Amino acid sequence: MQLERKRIFLRSLAVTAIAVTATFGLSFPTRWILGMPIDWLAWIECVVIPVVIAFPVSWFIFSQAEALRRANWLLTQSHNDLESAHKRLTFVSRHDQMTGLLNRDGFLDRLERAVGRGSEGFLLVVDADHFKQINDRYGHPKGDEALRKIAQALRYSVRSSDAVGRIGGEEFAILLTGIDRREAEQLAELTRRHVELIPWEGEKGERHRLTVSIGGADLRRHGANASEALRVADRCLYAAKNRGRNQVVFDYIAEAVA
Ligand code: GH3
Ligand code: MG
Ligand code: MG
Repeated sequence: MQLERKRIFLRSLAVTAIAVTATFGLSFPTRWILGMPIDWLAWIECVVIPVVIAFPVSWFIFSQAEALRRANWLLTQSHNDLESAHKRLTFVSRHDQMTGLLNRDGFLDRLERAVGRGSEGFLLVVDADHFKQINDRYGHPKGDEALRKIAQALRYSVRSSDAVGRIGGEEFAILLTGIDRREAEQLAELTRRHVELIPWEGEKGERHRLTVSIGGADLRRHGANASEALRVADRCLYAAKNRGRNQVVFDYIAEAVA
């Protein structure tokens, strides 16, 4: 604040000095041309009048300019704060707190956009097998830990460009784009295998094998319809469950369920 007032004072002083000089520059030659005397009154006019007018006026103008500059800085600060709060909120509203994956809304958004663009791709719906048993045997907190490990395994199994979400309690989904059937099958199988290999123990060191069943749908087979793709992938998931769990079923392979 002190520095600000000093700056306003110096600027006002500079403007006043210019005003005094300009008044001398105009007044004296004019008096000389008109044959008027350059007496003490002329000197007072040239110094006092510009000082009395120029200094307070410049002080007022520079103070207003400083106030505007400060207000502008505060506005920019609040705009930046709002922008980062908005980004944080958008992230939180689209992600699952427990696993850090996309939540159902966030995932469906990605799926709808991919389907809307007519992107080639595959939807995998992944459901933890016999998960109720884990909660019943080891407790809910250990169940949560297992879900976080499964989420990590899914994220680790696919490419960073693929969307991975938790779309229900112990149900996940993966959107694979820009790949063919063979690659999609390989990634789905790798995902299943990675979950199976998770080293997971209960509170007392009891080993438990975590597994998932996976249903897959080829997006090109379902037009621009995300909910139809989800429905088909879900049916394939239940086919995988019926076939004994811990396996992958794609819609074009299990034509009967599509
Ligand atoms: P299936 O192989 O047929 O899928 O059997 P399941 O036991 O996994 O399926 P079911 O639908 O019978 O049970 C799902 C269980 O998942 C029950 C529920 O308590 C548990 N679950 C859902 N969300 C959470 C969660 O956030 N944390 C924990 N710990 N458990 C959850
Ligand atoms: Mg389950
Ligand atoms: Mg389920």
